[in-house]
Amino acid sequence: MSVLPVRARPSSQLPESPRGLALLRDPMLNKGTAFTEAERDALGLRGFLPAHVLSMPEQVERVLVNLRGLPNDLEKYIALNSLHDRNEALFFRVVCDNIDEIQPLIYTPTVGLACQRYGLIFQRPRGMFISANDRGRIAELLGNWPYPAKLIVVTDGERILGLGDLGAHGMGIPVGKLSLYSACAGIHPEHCLPVMLDVGTNNEDFLHDPYYIGMRQKRLSGAAYDELVDEFITAARETFPGVLIQFEDFANHSAFRLLHKYRDKINVFNDDIQGTAAVALAGLFSALRVTGGKLADQKVLFLGAGEAATGIADLVVSAMMAEGASEAEALRRTWLVDSRGLVVKNRAGLTDHKLRYAHDHAPIGDFLTAIQTLKPTAIIGVAAVGGAFTPEVLQAVAGINERPIVFALSNPTSKAECSAEEAYRHTGGRALFACGSPYDPVKFDGRTFVPRQGNNSYIFPGVGLGAIATGARLVTDEMFMAAAHTLAYLVNKDDIEQGSLFPALPRIREVSAHIAVAVAEVAYKRGLATVPAPNDLMAFVQSQMYDPHY
Ligand code: NAD
Repeated sequence: MSVLPVRARPSSQLPESPRGLALLRDPMLNKGTAFTEAERDALGLRGFLPAHVLSMPEQVERVLVNLRGLPNDLEKYIALNSLHDRNEALFFRVVCDNIDEIQPLIYTPTVGLACQRYGLIFQRPRGMFISANDRGRIAELLGNWPYPAKLIVVTDGERILGLGDLGAHGMGIPVGKLSLYSACAGIHPEHCLPVMLDVGTNNEDFLHDPYYIGMRQKRLSGAAYDELVDEFITAARETFPGVLIQFEDFANHSAFRLLHKYRDKINVFNDDIQGTAAVALAGLFSALRVTGGKLADQKVLFLGAGEAATGIADLVVSAMMAEGASEAEALRRTWLVDSRGLVVKNRAGLTDHKLRYAHDHAPIGDFLTAIQTLKPTAIIGVAAVGGAFTPEVLQAVAGINERPIVFALSNPTSKAECSAEEAYRHTGGRALFACGSPYDPVKFDGRTFVPRQGNNSYIFPGVGLGAIATGARLVTDEMFMAAAHTLAYLVNKDDIEQGSLFPALPRIREVSAHIAVAVAEVAYKRGLATVPAPNDLMAFVQSQMYDPHY
């Protein structure tokens, strides 16, 4: 057996391997108590470690025992982060082997609370903080990053989950998301770079909070903002050629603009818009396996008209058209309600992304009346208004449909439109339900329902993996549609029978590999790949997946 630690780094130009204490403090190389006797001798570790050598599975068990003894999820988030900082392989082993339990702790819903408290819980920095003061030297900053990034998740913190402007505290989101890329799709941690574009914050509480970690100034806007983003994108592509950039939790007014500005030119995507769209579309496809209808025959009513809603609506319309509907027919089946009521043509001041769904219809002020009037087959909540699917709303949609499709996708949990239990109770157990937050199984009327989260984490890891593996020059809607079809196809009969519209999360690496293959197929078919086509696409994809071990 080799006495050298398995360096998780795939890069060829590695600094000389550290020894002794420096080795124990390098999270990419550290194995802690799992260093073998031979390694302890060879690597100058004698005396630094207690005598008993643990195996990795034993270390995983110990982490779990500790974790489960902690009093709340925020403490667990902090403990997991600190493990991540100490021993990367062990952290990812714990996440991969216990994804159901750990994902909600390192990502939604816990990450929302963590971001709100980021100033207090901040320990070791992870990723890069690029601030408005760094204009003109962003390339220099990125050059400090010691690893070969292939995937950047970047946020400006303006719309963190459903929690609004959290400024630099939003860094928790790219960090958590990239952990999921590594755990769920095996994108090597060293290829992942979280970035906070700190352009200030308009959050008054933070501006006066002594523990706020970001720039204490109002947000940049207009040309100054655009120039900073542009400099960042250019510098990132120069520093890390071919890097895939994922926009994350930008506010509406920036998210759509930036996506449209870059998406046809370089390999970028916005997960809040496109990833959400694909997971919701997959949920609809799964629900249709129960009801037996075609997507093009559905009528979908959204609560919310933001990034998630219009992103989903756009992909649903494309998918209806792929089933043969004309664009006009597909649009007639897709409706939005926002804070001012039904989105209709004669409403003044509609923003660009809503215009496509502004129908010729009399105004309707509230969601319940919209349901009673339009008679949708599916309602999708993405407005971050907790409790908006009231008993009356659920009863109304259940009164119209034998099997109403009810997706309450807002998160964190406090923002969910309804709980799983409410969805089943108020529809007589007939709802085909998906949620944005995790819920325990629900017993209703002698049946046990297992609601599953319509979580983007089913989609973005596989899409990222497929795009990176093929060196795709663009990330297209066709790729997201392929991802949605693949995800729905992977839902099995048992899932469907227990009311689950998504596969079990522990299958996520298998799911991601299939999605990556589907994305890669599109990349090759459309001439977007820059890597020669392999003979066996699945084997090729799997060969690129990081599997945390010593
Ligand atoms: P957003 O800010 O872009 O959009 C929110 C929309 O809700 C806006 O159109 C706003 O007008 C509307 N709205 C606000 N108050 C309303 C009210 N009282 N009635 C009706 N509409 C109202 O945010 P987003 O990115 O679209 O995200 C919305 C929610 O969806 C968030 O909670 C987010 O976390 C969640 N989300 C979930 C998933 C998922 O589960 N897969 C993915 C993405 C987003």
